[in-house]
Amino acid sequence: MTANAVFIHHPGAARYQFNVDHPFHPHRLTLTLDLLEAVGALGTEDRMVPEPADESLLSLIHREDYIEAVKQLSSVKPDPEWVLQAERYGLRSEDTPFFPGMHEAAMAVVSGSVYAADQVMSGKALHAYHMAGGLHHAFPDRGSGFCVYNDAAIAISHIREHYGARVLYIDTDVHHGDGVQWTFYNDPEVCTYSIHETGKFLFPGTGYVYERGNELGRGATVNVPVEPYTEDDSWLESFQTSIEKVTAAFKPDIIVSQHGCDAHAYDPLSHTHCSMRIYQAMPAIIHRLAHQHTGGRWMAVGGGGYDVWRVVPRAWALVWLEMTGHPLSARLAVEGANEALPESWLSHWSSLSPDELPACWLDDTSNWPAMPRRTEIEEKNRQTTLLAIQEH
Ligand SMILES: [Zn+2]
Repeated sequence: MTANAVFIHHPGAARYQFNVDHPFHPHRLTLTLDLLEAVGALGTEDRMVPEPADESLLSLIHREDYIEAVKQLSSVKPDPEWVLQAERYGLRSEDTPFFPGMHEAAMAVVSGSVYAADQVMSGKALHAYHMAGGLHHAFPDRGSGFCVYNDAAIAISHIREHYGARVLYIDTDVHHGDGVQWTFYNDPEVCTYSIHETGKFLFPGTGYVYERGNELGRGATVNVPVEPYTEDDSWLESFQTSIEKVTAAFKPDIIVSQHGCDAHAYDPLSHTHCSMRIYQAMPAIIHRLAHQHTGGRWMAVGGGGYDVWRVVPRAWALVWLEMTGHPLSARLAVEGANEALPESWLSHWSSLSPDELPACWLDDTSNWPAMPRRTEIEEKNRQTTLLAIQEH
């Protein structure tokens, strides 16, 4: 039996939490699951629990000593010798501090992404969605930017090893997808594409247009760094122009997309000024490209997104609505359309949310302040996008 789309959720991924005050909060998953259930788009029985991934898959990407460090630092009382080592493995920073159960929680995330890849590549499902995935900043030898194991890179590497497929990785997080990019920088069979706020002002400080890949992989890395205060129209123009061209030129067998939703104006960690419209539009573009170029093979993962209440649930629910061809998705795609969020979801969560929850799926941006230098920003983004794809 071939399912059109599968939703993958490992309960253990909820334990991926650095500390109570950390912006990377498992509430993101709970609120989104609940929203999807409230609109009748996902029942508890529709969630597939992934089989645990073989630990040897970590070695596709990560160095043995790093894996050992993660395991050691996962214990409730790590050996002081390992605690001394934590810093050089990137696990003692404010962003990515080690925590008890870290290895198991990060493995739960890896399991979901590898399972998604297998579902799609084996033909059991055409599309797969794993919201807890997308930890794109982890490096072979160190954790970084809230990411311990790079589940996306591991899943891609697994696809390469096991199925020999050409992979297009599309990263729409506001932060550059550095860990995935550098992993496949020399590889002509994996194209990594990232649209993000320019590294001039934002972590991780890379993702410039001139990072195009190396050796045989030259041309198989594409970066579209946009300006701070970029708004919907300009972001979408840059995204659509570049990803259409890159996909057509690269001819992938599968698309792996990362759906960090931190380019939203409400997000506390970035300076772009987009609304929910881009999170309705980008999955639709990716979905269409998959049917045009990869026979429909598409797996999607989550990623960043730090306005846990107002932004992430809507943005990540929209990916699944698009993937499953839910009627709500088609209705919201019409220009100027909008619809109320389910009353049950709003009433359940509004008392807990620190900010007033949005009433509708899309944002009413008519009363948002206009960004200064809009024309200048749009023109700069246009030039950057042309430069990014000039060799494609
Ligand atoms: Zn991010």
